[in-house]
Amino acid sequence: MLFSGTSRTIESYLLDLSHCTEFRERNGVTRRLYTAAWKQAQSLILDWMCEANLDPWIDAVGNVHGRVEGFSDQTILTGSHLDTVVDGGAYDGAYGIIAGIMALGEIKSRQIPLSRSLEVVALCEEEGSRFPMTCWGSRALLGKISREDLALQDAEGVSVSEAMQSCGLSPHEIDWTPSYHYRGFVELHIEQASQLESAHCPIGVVNTIFGQERWNVTVIGESVHAGTSRIVNRHDALVAASEMVLSVYRLAQQYEDKAIGTVGLLQVQNGTSNCVPGHVNFTVDLRAQNDALRESLASELQSMFTECGRRYGVEIVVDPYTSVNAVSMNVELQNLIQKAAHSQRLNTLLLDSRAGHDAQILGTTIPTAMIFVPSYQGLSHHVNEFTKKEDLINGQNVLREVLERAANGMFS
Ligand SMILES: [Zn+2]
Repeated sequence: MLFSGTSRTIESYLLDLSHCTEFRERNGVTRRLYTAAWKQAQSLILDWMCEANLDPWIDAVGNVHGRVEGFSDQTILTGSHLDTVVDGGAYDGAYGIIAGIMALGEIKSRQIPLSRSLEVVALCEEEGSRFPMTCWGSRALLGKISREDLALQDAEGVSVSEAMQSCGLSPHEIDWTPSYHYRGFVELHIEQASQLESAHCPIGVVNTIFGQERWNVTVIGESVHAGTSRIVNRHDALVAASEMVLSVYRLAQQYEDKAIGTVGLLQVQNGTSNCVPGHVNFTVDLRAQNDALRESLASELQSMFTECGRRYGVEIVVDPYTSVNAVSMNVELQNLIQKAAHSQRLNTLLLDSRAGHDAQILGTTIPTAMIFVPSYQGLSHHVNEFTKKEDLINGQNVLREVLERAANGMFS
């Protein structure tokens, strides 16, 4: 039995949720915040929490919550995010929500007495795929959203506030200083990398979530004739940018175990085949296991950029636009995950997450841990994202046991 009175599999719930997508004609899942597809998914989650007798409710930003009450006023939270990237997969975020509902549904139906309450949440947004913001759902739980966020716009000029209202949510009802007090948070998620698959290990226990920062870099040189200008006189923005891209790559190679850097977007403004490029923009995504290392790599890169600019006679402007610190997971909860896995004869692997998660936000103030299950070939944010049924069930069983143990005093 999964949700009360049904015999559906976790895969069938994932399939149903994957049908809530903006582009039905495409293979991937696209479910951006406050779109019709997102609203449809939110309704499904609400129905499933009802079926599992979790007395669900929707908060002001659209997170869906369900609960099993315990004796004390402390609550252990689980859950993940409901949104996806554009053309993403069926497992990222969705798995942690559905497994959480199933775990709580089973605990509720077995009438297991709980000291602490258990709560599952479908967080409304994490990916940043519609508006220039991320982790809106988990930040809202902590009161880390602001009125300015409501004015942020998507590519069509629709504001967060307008999009909320289109989904029947009222921005005026947002609690800017929420009174949630969670004793712990456990997020179950697909790994999105291939360490577990390579090690033939079913359960990952996350150690640290890498910190990350992103920059917009502008390189301004001089656009001149491709035939008549001498190399020695050029201020070629693209050649300079290319060296900077390589310096990001080489630094990432050098620190491979502890940091990673990527240039994911590069644009030549008004580029034509017969002109020397005069204006180039590119992005830098820099991630590291600890903040001191990230800061030192950031400053090393900026020095390289400055030196490169001097060599090519181009102006360089670095505009950092987002930064999230690295977060260590709670050791007591990590131990609980290991014990739960071992009691089910499942091996565990301690690993870092190089991807950002809601756990990175909630982990700043709530004791937090993450459970990973293997991802086929490490694929994620991809139409072929896949986790085997056996691995899905293992993760869900470990989550249920961790929640039961945490609710009944095996976590201080
Ligand atoms: Zn995710």
